[in-house]
Amino acid sequence: MLDRLKALEASALSQIKDATDLQSIESLRVQYLGRKGKLTAILRDMGSLSAEERPKIGKHANELKNRLEKAFDDYLAGLSNRASGQKPNPIDYTLPGRRGYAGKVHPVTRIYRQIVDIFLGMGFDLAEGPEVELDYYNFEALNMPRHHPARDMQDTFYIDDEMLLRTHTSPVQVRTMESRRPPIKVIAPGKAYRPDYDVTHSPMFHQVEGLMVGTDISMADLKGVLSVFVHAMFGSEIGLRFRPSFFPFTEPSAEVDIMCVICKGTGCRVCSHTGWLEILGSGMVDPAVFSMVGYDPEEYTGFAFGMGIERIAMLKYGIDDIRLFFENDLRFLNQF
Ligand SMILES: [Zn+2]
Repeated sequence: MLDRLKALEASALSQIKDATDLQSIESLRVQYLGRKGKLTAILRDMGSLSAEERPKIGKHANELKNRLEKAFDDYLAGLSNRASGQKPNPIDYTLPGRRGYAGKVHPVTRIYRQIVDIFLGMGFDLAEGPEVELDYYNFEALNMPRHHPARDMQDTFYIDDEMLLRTHTSPVQVRTMESRRPPIKVIAPGKAYRPDYDVTHSPMFHQVEGLMVGTDISMADLKGVLSVFVHAMFGSEIGLRFRPSFFPFTEPSAEVDIMCVICKGTGCRVCSHTGWLEILGSGMVDPAVFSMVGYDPEEYTGFAFGMGIERIAMLKYGIDDIRLFFENDLRFLNQF
């Protein structure tokens, strides 16, 4: 009987060694150690043994059983090690899927489009000009000759003596008037550049320029157009007011305030308790500018205005630092 046990162990171990997968190892386990397995079959014959031999064989059989079980377990451990070695990142099909992110429109782009839509709705055309601009269009043709003190109002990125990054979208006014005859009714949205960097200034920012020229354009038309814009942008309950100001390329000039969108005019921290917020600069086109582009100042009048798109977006969304728009922080951008 001892020989039968030894033969069984030898054949079991060699079969385990040759097993190639989990299924064959499980069937071997049943074949040898199962209730109807080969080992059980041998042990069933133990009744024929003498009382002296029985415990000796029993002990052998138990030890054999332990060895085989260990061989099976070792094989399985090796199998799973090999499996994980081959596939370092086995796919777990039970995990929930990863959600894809849908893109969103940047808040500045969103306001940019809203502004453009409002003016297109009033019959304005779109105009554009280069961001790398000639000194002539950015300053001289706008009634700011070299050494004019008003140039100090706008710090400038110069490329060389003649070229610069435009400091406002106003040069598009000049380019448009040079290439067309009145009546003109355009807006020119785009980027502008100034070497400023703080909570209300960014070295690159967006402006929308507006220009309307004809034979009978007055300041009342300017106020009418801007009223429609402000009501469409901020709501019909938001009023606006003109404050006298100075720009070299408009005469008379006015800065335009809207009723504070936060406190509705009663006074708060955002409006410095005045109830009003400045949103843009405007005025009647200076006759000197008309002369530069060959329009007869006696025949034509017109108005122009320029506003910062980020400024509008900050008021609209209650944002107190312009730099947030350009930091590309998803925690910020995802809120829109
Ligand atoms: Zn306020």
